[in-house]
Amino acid sequence: MLDQVKKPFWVFLFLWVVLSGCAAKVQTASRVTFDKSLMPETPIPIPSPTMLPPTAAATSTPTPVPTRTSTLSLALPDLQTLAPSQLYLDETTEPGRTLLRFTNSIWNRGTGPLELIGHPNETQERVLITQSVLSPDGEPARELEVGEFVFHGSHLHWHMQDFALYEVWSLDDWGHLNEAIRTGRKISFCVIDIYRADENPEDTTVPSLIGYPQCNNERQGLSPGWVDTYASNLPDQWVDVTELVDGIYALVSTVNPAGRILESDLENNVGITYFELVGGRLRIAEPPYIPPDLRGLPEE
Ligand SMILES: [Zn+2]
Repeated sequence: MLDQVKKPFWVFLFLWVVLSGCAAKVQTASRVTFDKSLMPETPIPIPSPTMLPPTAAATSTPTPVPTRTSTLSLALPDLQTLAPSQLYLDETTEPGRTLLRFTNSIWNRGTGPLELIGHPNETQERVLITQSVLSPDGEPARELEVGEFVFHGSHLHWHMQDFALYEVWSLDDWGHLNEAIRTGRKISFCVIDIYRADENPEDTTVPSLIGYPQCNNERQGLSPGWVDTYASNLPDQWVDVTELVDGIYALVSTVNPAGRILESDLENNVGITYFELVGGRLRIAEPPYIPPDLRGLPEE
């Protein structure tokens, strides 16, 4: 009799312990807040053009520039071409041709570095480049596919393709740029810190040490406040001006001509130097005077 009474009691006690334990776990689980340490170890990839379907990634359409609001919190580079300098005519490099040689300099005036990351692949001579855009804290915030590194046979190091565009423009009667009449070869660059533009050593926003010293296919770039220069005597630092008639022209140098690199300002990428050809000689010309009403500026 006692056993018959005790048996249901033990069964009840057993069920009560099990069920109350489950209830406690459920209550505990419902109180647990979201914990990032519980996330899988594989990070969620940042969406980038490289992840688009092959057909979309294969097109040459420039990477669309994100809207203003989405870039406000980024430390972006701002590439600006200085006016080309040290112009001279070279009639020896290419027999029978007249080459306009010049020094080209590109200044990063932005708050962030231009950081180009190569993704070498043993089977490829061309290496995909992504631009790593940083947050103001220096953390990688966005990654964009921006072009390719190729090995330059004359310079014997790696260059970013189509980093700049060199053109000679004719001028109209008012001195406006009229038409691009000569274009340089495809201009590729080793993007590298050459010198610090800001001479104020107190400016802590400009790094005092070189951040991008190499022309390899893994990492190139331009620190904020630093300048990358290609001297006039280097291979490909020219535009062919053979048989241009005497007159005044504009040498127009543009960095990031396709706008694929994300910058804070694409309106200041062009550097211009005017020059005059007279009887086979070259001299620097003053920027043509354009009356204010023809410049689109308010009249005084
Ligand atoms: Zn080079």
